[in-house]
Amino acid sequence: MPKLFFISSSPAILASPIEYLKGVGPQRAELLKKELNIFTFRDLLEHFPYRHIDKTKVNLIQEITPAMEFVQVAVKLIRLDVVGEGRGKRLVAQVKDATGSMELVWFQGINWIQKTLLPDQSYLVYGRLSFFQQTPQIVHPETEPWAPEKKEGREFLEPVYPTTEKLKARSLGGRQIAKLTQVLLGQLHEKDIPENLPDTVISKLKLMGRYQAFRQVHFPTTAAQYKEAVKRLKLEELFLAQLRMNLLRSRRHRFSKGVVFDKVGDQFNTFYKEYLPFELTGAQKRVLREIRTDTGSGKQMNRLLQGDVGSGKTIVALLTMLLAIDNGYQACLMAPTEILAKQHFATISSLLKEMPVEVELLTGSTKTAARKKIAKKLSEGTLEILIGTHAVIEEVVQFQRLGMVIIDEQHRFGVAQRARLWEKAEIPPHVLVMTATPIPRTLAMTAYGDLDYSVIDELPPGRQPITTVHRYETQRSQVMSFLRAEIDKGRQVYIIFPLIEESDKLDYENLMRGYETVKGYFPEPKYWISMVHGKQPAEQKEQNMQRFVVGDTQIMVSTTVIEVGVNVPNASVMVIESSEKFGLSQLHQLRGRVGRGAEKSYCILLSGSKLGNDARERIKILTSTNNGFEIAEKDLELRGPGDIEGTRQSGMLNFKLANIVEDRPLVEAARLLVAELLEEDPELVSADNLRLKSFLFQQKGKMAWSKIS
Ligand code: ADP
Ligand code: MG
Repeated sequence: MPKLFFISSSPAILASPIEYLKGVGPQRAELLKKELNIFTFRDLLEHFPYRHIDKTKVNLIQEITPAMEFVQVAVKLIRLDVVGEGRGKRLVAQVKDATGSMELVWFQGINWIQKTLLPDQSYLVYGRLSFFQQTPQIVHPETEPWAPEKKEGREFLEPVYPTTEKLKARSLGGRQIAKLTQVLLGQLHEKDIPENLPDTVISKLKLMGRYQAFRQVHFPTTAAQYKEAVKRLKLEELFLAQLRMNLLRSRRHRFSKGVVFDKVGDQFNTFYKEYLPFELTGAQKRVLREIRTDTGSGKQMNRLLQGDVGSGKTIVALLTMLLAIDNGYQACLMAPTEILAKQHFATISSLLKEMPVEVELLTGSTKTAARKKIAKKLSEGTLEILIGTHAVIEEVVQFQRLGMVIIDEQHRFGVAQRARLWEKAEIPPHVLVMTATPIPRTLAMTAYGDLDYSVIDELPPGRQPITTVHRYETQRSQVMSFLRAEIDKGRQVYIIFPLIEESDKLDYENLMRGYETVKGYFPEPKYWISMVHGKQPAEQKEQNMQRFVVGDTQIMVSTTVIEVGVNVPNASVMVIESSEKFGLSQLHQLRGRVGRGAEKSYCILLSGSKLGNDARERIKILTSTNNGFEIAEKDLELRGPGDIEGTRQSGMLNFKLANIVEDRPLVEAARLLVAELLEEDPELVSADNLRLKSFLFQQKGKMAWSKIS
């Protein structure tokens, strides 16, 4: 019975160092390692061609037309002549087949060609077609000896491999790599590339077998076979990635220990009944139920909560923290910036002002004496909720009984930082990560497959959709008149300038100029302006912010420092200067600063008159929808997954073959297959799943698991 296991663990040949491959040797091996990261036979096998050249067909000379770019002919060599002199010197070969004749021409390597090509012999000739005085020619063709009776071309489509200039210079260009791959495949037997997917999966999707797929992906017999091979290998990649994540998650569910919140107590109930300022939306209730189930399970919760801007994540965070308190634990809420931390503190203390719950704020500007007091109360356990910036919380604090950590705007955090907070705790606290950067669902499931995932996909009732328009800079005075009318109605407005790098001097000057321009339109003392940017001292920033929050200033001129989370419900207009310089998600985030109150809100995208295609597309998308998830989908299409905020660190999106944007149907198929498989056989013990299990076991350690806790 254990035999089965040994049989499947045989593919040792693939682990062989690349220098052992015939035709490689130590020097070429060094180059392959340095330039292409090819260390082993397996690495070469997984170095996939990026396209193929079809040399399976032989053209008849008679059929050749000027419209053909490349041709392949099977010909007999008639004669070879050196013609011309000096720089015009060249070797010309007359060749013919049964239907006509043509010429081959060389300007270099003449002596060598003269020695290797012999009159009266047959050759298969391939190259780029040109014409010289109506005669078809190929300059510097590829040639190889050919049996004259053969009618067909090559058996395979010829692969073209990624390579580097350095490798090309050392005779390791695409064609040489193809040769090495051919040598490698010649040595590999079916047992060396054993099937790893379960038969059920293979038959369900009618997948090509693994061994065949690897052969066909390199040297396909037909274009259709190539397609099948690629599909098979992509699916394998996605399936295995998804499976690993799910296994990791279910292992965490089964084996991790978490503090148990087994009851809903006084604080939660009192707040819910007496002080909740509104009815929760269905989505908020659902997410809270999910959190309650998780935290009551005895396992550590690791949950990602996504909700579009303004969907009401804060109240979910608060109720979650009250749940922790009811069960005798402390909670903390971490925000990426001081402004946000303060705002959370203000919102939450005001919501809790009638409740006997102690809340404190800890940021970079908290004074030493206050810090000490907070630290003391935390370690004694009398302080129940701590709100602050992550850096500060991490460096300072010892909680007595930390049970719940909530991280707002997750993509601003480095991964490593997170764990520090509770690494000393015997039982880790539950973790809820909240993000307003919507990630398309399938992508989130793939990128964060080992996290539990909740989404608030419903906005609180009564919100009026924000009207978004595009205006050119030449229309600035009309825009300003519109702002004046809004301000005169008692509203407030944001005017945002791009500041890509906070240190960028040009951008800074741009902002200052912008500020002066705005001031020209809106003079004191009728109008007051706040300005916030990254170079200000924290205190000044805070003061300017505060004046806008309380309504002392009507206009906020700012860089994107206010991008995330700021909540001023009376602000009804968002003007974005040079909007062509912003990314789609960022524009959406910025727009989310308005439309938070009862008033009709507007977003005005200003731009120069010259717009690139992408910028035009972004503006078009933004003016046509308010739905963050739709926008995220578009963003994904426009930029590809590597750039989506929040996914960069996940490491889950770097597939060799699969592309999470283009292969969405496969991503989804893999996800469903894995879910089904684990539903039926969570431990992978059935005979059909054993080889999968042993494959995963062999691959262990190949993946980097830099996940949230
Ligand atoms: P975000 O998810 O962007 O953090 P917030 O938590 O700041 O959103 O909520 C946005 C606004 O919506 C706040 O003013 C909040 O009070 C309000 N809000 C949240 N939930 C509801 C609800 N269920 N009904 C009405 N208003 C709500
Ligand atoms: Mg928020």
